[in-house]
Amino acid sequence: MVKKDSKQKLKELPKLCGSEDLDNEFRVFPADLDPGRMSAIMEVGLVFVEGTVLKYYLSGGTSAQKRLFRQACDIWMENGSLEFAETDNRKEAEIRVGFERGKGHWSYIGRAALEQPEYTNTMNLDTSATLDTMLHEIGHTLGLHHEHQNPNSGIEWDKEAVYAALAGKPNYWSKSKTDRNILKKVAVDRVQGSKWDPDSIMHYPFGAGLINSPEGYENGIYPKPGLSEGDKEWVRHYYGRSKERVLRVDKPIELKLSGGEQINFRFTPKASGEYMFNTFGADADTLITVFENGDPPKFIEGDDNSGDDMHALVILTLKKDVEYLIRLRLYWQDADKTVSFVVYPEPAVQNYKDDLDKWRWRIKDNNDTIAVSADGYDNLNDCIRSLKKVKELIDQHDADSMNASFSKKE
Ligand SMILES: [Zn+2]
Repeated sequence: MVKKDSKQKLKELPKLCGSEDLDNEFRVFPADLDPGRMSAIMEVGLVFVEGTVLKYYLSGGTSAQKRLFRQACDIWMENGSLEFAETDNRKEAEIRVGFERGKGHWSYIGRAALEQPEYTNTMNLDTSATLDTMLHEIGHTLGLHHEHQNPNSGIEWDKEAVYAALAGKPNYWSKSKTDRNILKKVAVDRVQGSKWDPDSIMHYPFGAGLINSPEGYENGIYPKPGLSEGDKEWVRHYYGRSKERVLRVDKPIELKLSGGEQINFRFTPKASGEYMFNTFGADADTLITVFENGDPPKFIEGDDNSGDDMHALVILTLKKDVEYLIRLRLYWQDADKTVSFVVYPEPAVQNYKDDLDKWRWRIKDNNDTIAVSADGYDNLNDCIRSLKKVKELIDQHDADSMNASFSKKE
């Protein structure tokens, strides 16, 4: 995406950031999930935890392009505590940037990049990429969506004119690609804040004749170059310095967070062994991440329980006298109740596991009983989630003929 000085008029649209299906539905929620809770999750669900060091690998590119990319990272970093670190090892990079000609500008949104296989890039910058294009794509990487798709903009497009403008040089977009990247409004719950920010780096420039209303945009929209005040506010909010506490075994800490807020803990075990990090109390959707402290801190394990009825839980073997950083982001919690966070030492972990052994779920298919247990799963919550999915499938599918039942064995 290219931004123009507001005095300049666009003869044709520049090459814009376009995704085939990268920006779209990234997850499915249970049908009965409370809408308020769903919006809270959607708003921050793809944002990395504050303090994350994102390692990026530049795949190809000229030295000028690489220089520009590093500069764009620095500009975002000036405004938040998220760090970018370049690596020449593709394997250890979370962000893999291609500079392939003709492949367009695009990026995965936020943590969706972590789900991509190592051999694929998570961002592409075409040859026309400017500093602003790079700031825009990095904005996606941090978890931002397109601002011109903000439903609060009130923009009414001259749709045919927009299709025609994008169908031509240099974008050659299909109608569906234009729908996805421009015309479709992002769900209210996915935009940051309620105000429309036409100067956001996440806003495309648009030439004359594409916008019917609001008034005043007949001649187009030309966002100012660089990050807007709104962009800076967003990155300070989600990647600002969070409060920090020291965590001790068996000493619960009440979280007292509002939606989207993060809290960090430092924890240094006095003995090596298994430990269990767990939220408890009111229903809550949280992301727990555990890092071994170092330069940079190394991610070990995480659990995101958003949208399900379990609490976030991580069990890990930790080393004596090593410092661990636990970063916890709350998406949503049941109002007026408290949510706490605790770390339990080995004996409690063992009790928990023994108890879990009783959780053998049975799926009865006529006379055959398939017993499924927690064995073979690294993460207990993942195991329980998978089993629930199996149950849902059976419920929907052929419950009668299969005589399916699903129960907790006592
Ligand atoms: Zn974009």
